[in-house]
Amino acid sequence: MLLDPDGGAEFSIPVKIAILGGGITGVTAARQLAAAGHSLALFEAGDRLAGLCASSVIDGFVADHAGGHILFSKDKEVLEFMLKALDGIGYHTTRRETAIRLKGRYVHYPFENGLGDLEDGDRFTCLKDYILAWHERRSGAKAAQDFHAWCLWRFGRGICELFMHPYNEKIWNVPLSELGTFWVEGRVPDAPMEDVLRSALGTRTEGYVHQSMFHYPLSGGFESLVKGMARGLPPDVVRLQTPVTSVARDGAGFAVNGEHFDQVVSTIPLQSLGRVLAGVPAALKQSFAALDHVSLRNVFIALEKKDAPPLSWIYFPHEADGPQNRVTWLSNYSPQNAPAGMSSVMAEVTWYRNAPGNPAATTEAVLNGLVKNGLFTRDAVRFTRVFDVEHAYILYRHGLEAELAKLRAYTESLGLHVVGRFGNYSYFNSDACVRAALDKAAEITARS
Ligand SMILES: Cc1cc2nc3c(=O)[nH]c(=O)nc-3n(C[C@H](O)[C@H](O)[C@H](O)COP(=O)(O)OP(=O)(O)OC[C@H]3O[C@@H](n4cnc5c(N)ncnc54)[C@H](O)[C@@H]3O)c2cc1C
Repeated sequence: MLLDPDGGAEFSIPVKIAILGGGITGVTAARQLAAAGHSLALFEAGDRLAGLCASSVIDGFVADHAGGHILFSKDKEVLEFMLKALDGIGYHTTRRETAIRLKGRYVHYPFENGLGDLEDGDRFTCLKDYILAWHERRSGAKAAQDFHAWCLWRFGRGICELFMHPYNEKIWNVPLSELGTFWVEGRVPDAPMEDVLRSALGTRTEGYVHQSMFHYPLSGGFESLVKGMARGLPPDVVRLQTPVTSVARDGAGFAVNGEHFDQVVSTIPLQSLGRVLAGVPAALKQSFAALDHVSLRNVFIALEKKDAPPLSWIYFPHEADGPQNRVTWLSNYSPQNAPAGMSSVMAEVTWYRNAPGNPAATTEAVLNGLVKNGLFTRDAVRFTRVFDVEHAYILYRHGLEAELAKLRAYTESLGLHVVGRFGNYSYFNSDACVRAALDKAAEITARS
């Protein structure tokens, strides 16, 4: 079929495309490519379209599998597109209220905007060291190349010792000196000096303002977003429980699990693609194998009572308060996330290579930490559930950029499209995944 051959720009010939992975990236790409008239097959290893956006509804409680997810974007077009996918489902909008739990206090987040909440000694040390670091930067001190030293360069010793270092060690589970810094831009809040001084003097200042309001599907959890996007897909496109086990060049196209396609869009983790791709040169096999990630255990806790504080989530930097790095009050995200009179929280525990063992032991350690911190009482716990997620965070080791450059050049030379959080190994939230998928679908259609 030719689309508007006389119109010039709209001219395109539909092709047969395989999409690998049915998370938000794969589903967005599928929806756009199907709308452009291409013939598609979407291969998903799991039993549903969702990936990291998966949710379950258990006894009336909504639980997101991969920890707390919120819908926000600086990209207006993408935000509109995502909210449109929730037509007929609806969404709830919340003002972000986040805090850090430290020495029995709640400290406003980002930490530099919350210095006024610290006890006097800590406030003085953090502010003094912040000013010293600022002065050294002004005097020409160059940004450090490892994340541990970069934090000291950026925030000074006080903030690092109280928050930045212990919190990041909890998340990444490796010495911070082993991590590079090329991922921090836009990821680590960066408050102006005036805000830090004001906050230390007790005037509330806000950081991360682009995220100050966020949305969340009214019902069904974050997965509703992917479900909404998948609504327009032709019924024969989706192949659930169909893991991709081989991808090979096949004439001008590719064979996926032995079936011919003109083009392939891969959103499965890049290292998984490296394992199923035929004919990868030995040197590049090492680059694929060098890709590293951190995994997540999410402990969902359903509570009998509805005495949730007006918080979206709380960071827990110190091990003494439990193994979780963050707790989300999910029942605050939508009035339909918990039955009437009840509430829920989710605690995120990350791990690297060595699984954290028995889920019951993790749950117990989390409950001890949260009860000790007064979030709820033991008798309020109605039930708990544990969700394990293998690929949660990209581990930004030194040298990762160089390995990624080689791998992206290689996949491009094969004509393979790699997109998505782990698909392209980029620190993407779901909105950036949607943007990348929209752009990729437009590019494929324009070129075909
Ligand atoms: C703790 C945490 C919190 C987050 N919070 C937010 C947030 O608040 N807001 C936000 O917008 N984003 C957030 N994100 C990011 C968001 O979840 C991801 O950016 C997004 O879901 C990634 O989508 P994807 O489709 O690229 O990848 P995925 O969701 O990982 O999808 C890949 C799919 O490929 C499938 N697959 C893998 N191997 C194969 C195979 N061999 N064959 C077939 N299929 C296969 C998988 O089953 C999966 O369904 C968060 C992520 C984490 C981990």
